[in-house]
Amino acid sequence: MSSRSEQLFERAQQRIPGGVNSPVRAFRSVGGTPRFFAAGDGARVRDVDGLSYIDYVGSWGPLILGHAHPEVVAAVQQAALRGLSFGAPTAGEVEIAELLCELLPSLEMVRLVSSGTEATMSAIRLARGFTGRDLLIKFEGCYHGHSDSLLVKAGSGMLTFGNPSSSGVPADFVRHTLVLDYNDSIGLAAAFAEHGPRIAAVIVEAVAGNMNLIAPQPAFLQNLRELCSRHSAVLIFDEVMSGFRVGAQGAQGLYGIIPDLTTLGKVIGGGMPVGAFGGKREIMSRIAPLGPVYQAGTLSGNPVAVAAGLATLRLLQAEGFYESLAQRTRQLTDGLSAAAGKHGVPFSAQAIGGMFGLYFRSECPQSYAEVMECDTQAFNRFFHAMLDAGHYFAPSAFEAGFVSAAHSESDVATTIAAAEAVFRAW
Ligand SMILES: *Cc1c(COP(=O)(O)O)cnc(C)c1O
Repeated sequence: MSSRSEQLFERAQQRIPGGVNSPVRAFRSVGGTPRFFAAGDGARVRDVDGLSYIDYVGSWGPLILGHAHPEVVAAVQQAALRGLSFGAPTAGEVEIAELLCELLPSLEMVRLVSSGTEATMSAIRLARGFTGRDLLIKFEGCYHGHSDSLLVKAGSGMLTFGNPSSSGVPADFVRHTLVLDYNDSIGLAAAFAEHGPRIAAVIVEAVAGNMNLIAPQPAFLQNLRELCSRHSAVLIFDEVMSGFRVGAQGAQGLYGIIPDLTTLGKVIGGGMPVGAFGGKREIMSRIAPLGPVYQAGTLSGNPVAVAAGLATLRLLQAEGFYESLAQRTRQLTDGLSAAAGKHGVPFSAQAIGGMFGLYFRSECPQSYAEVMECDTQAFNRFFHAMLDAGHYFAPSAFEAGFVSAAHSESDVATTIAAAEAVFRAW
């Protein structure tokens, strides 16, 4: 007898490429059948076979309050009763724009979109329009959504232009994107020395969460800020993941760096499709209808999505919210590290706010190359053993994990105990 997840996956693959609407969900790197989820409540999700899991994915970051938070759900229900979409301005959009600008001091103006991909794509167009330059710098291993000019991997040598990392992206498009190593201040300085007057923007995950989790070296972010200022390039912090996740003011607050533009998504929609980009008024004023840079969206600022985002952002303002989230996340990473250490498994882990990285490697990696040295087979074994025990981690060794405010001390202790049993039998 196959499980309902297996039956659904079978059906899904007939009509949906790979059976999924976003590739990592297909469990290709860990093997096995993805779980189809039926419901979520707080820290837990339940699959279609009735199995329950403590969830450390949280829809890949948005669910910082856990699944189906009653106040967020109520806000969505009330908004839905008033109408699903108008394609005309609503009060909620003004409220969330004001709140975002109040919470993130680098934002003077902000525009809403419906995904992180749209936010970064639009921010880059804006930076190019603002500077009148074409060249974009990104860093290997950072992900900024799936628009053409960002699906680039490093070329064969330093300071060479990137190659498309996806079929279907013309090589001509990525000729304008330079790919450098994360945390490599020397490479960065060399790129500016060679191409400075042509660089429109640098886009960076100020905490990198798409190659597992890599902490920025503070000097790297400072160098970025200085070089962009000196060469009049736009510094874009892609905080789609880190925004309102690593701290109350995202990575920019944590490291005290003020970017020119910031992109947001995930948490600011509370589980609904919301993205945003914002920053200096001088730059944001170049967007249509104020300026010549075109950007638009039929469902941008959708009232139901905005209601979820507003309710979420307001709940994050509770006294001590980020302190206790960070503490709970550290409880997890410290506990997992201790459990692995006790049984001699090469493993390390780190937490930044409500985000964490687990590495099958004895030290936390600081670069893309070091992340690539992690033992993926060991991860896959850990992943499946934990899944069987009712703990849902991201189905890839190269994804960050997320703890929510709904995870209790005892939820995390349960996960650590399960991991210890896995490491004992390693
Ligand atoms: C998730 C993510 C994106 C893309 O957001 P989507 O909503 O999936 O389009 C962009 N940048 C970063 C840093 C992300 O983590």
